Amino acid sequence: QLASREYKKETRTVAIGDTRIGGDTGNTILIGGPCSVESEGQIRTSAELIKGMGLTTLRGGCYKPRTSPYSFQGLGLEGLMLLAKMREEYGLKVITEVRDATHVDEVIEHSDVIQVGAKAMYDQGILRACAKTQKPVLIKRGFGTTLQEFVQSAEFVLSGGNENVILCERGIRSFETKTRFTLDLCGVAYLQEHTNLPIILDPSHAMGFAYGVLPLAKACVAMGIDGLLIEAHPTPKLAKSDASQQLDHESFSHLIDELNPIAQAVGYKI
Ligand code: PEP
Ligand code: MN
Repeated sequence: QLASREYKKETRTVAIGDTRIGGDTGNTILIGGPCSVESEGQIRTSAELIKGMGLTTLRGGCYKPRTSPYSFQGLGLEGLMLLAKMREEYGLKVITEVRDATHVDEVIEHSDVIQVGAKAMYDQGILRACAKTQKPVLIKRGFGTTLQEFVQSAEFVLSGGNENVILCERGIRSFETKTRFTLDLCGVAYLQEHTNLPIILDPSHAMGFAYGVLPLAKACVAMGIDGLLIEAHPTPKLAKSDASQQLDHESFSHLIDELNPIAQAVGYKI
């Protein structure tokens, strides 16, 4: 199998703009931004934060895979155009998620990394479309997905012709209800040992609460990972999705200082 260490011993290198992760790059990319693109002002403030910190990549969901049809569903194409505007004006790379195969082409066209969400990772229409581009695809592990199923999802993209696949652990469901999900660091160790794909961790969705995000991010970085995906919002309390887990911009801006020494200790840089 193409994702296995038997097939390819070295971790694959994937380029997100000028930032290369995986291989022997030693880079841990920090990707931040809101759960959802909500307005031009909100995503512009977010772009300014990312740019101001010297980071390269902004996240923001436009096609939101919400659990309830009565919750905010995302701005759709309008949001994608706002994100594309920030990409252009600030020279940032952007990552946004695909909810289903109907808008996968738009997302491929206007983003630098295609995020296949935890609920979408079984969607073969999406996976097959992602195989036909050369843009990086970040596949998030479903909350009830075994490591084998997770890797097989990646195999659809790899075997279809796109080698730029990144795995993302974002928490799985356990018996525990006090935290939103359970960040599976054992699973990360397994993937590091057995697969050749770069791995990005998302402590925000795993924890579900802002208070746990920094300590979890530290634990992730200590494992020698290729990147972090962290939600941050200019006014978290007013966020239209995932309000309780998003960092405010002040907390987000301190992340690098806290994480850098840990990254360095394991031979990585953020
Ligand atoms: C997100 O990144 O905002 C998101 C919806 O993530 P997940 O697919 O992991 O739930
Ligand atoms: Mn979210």
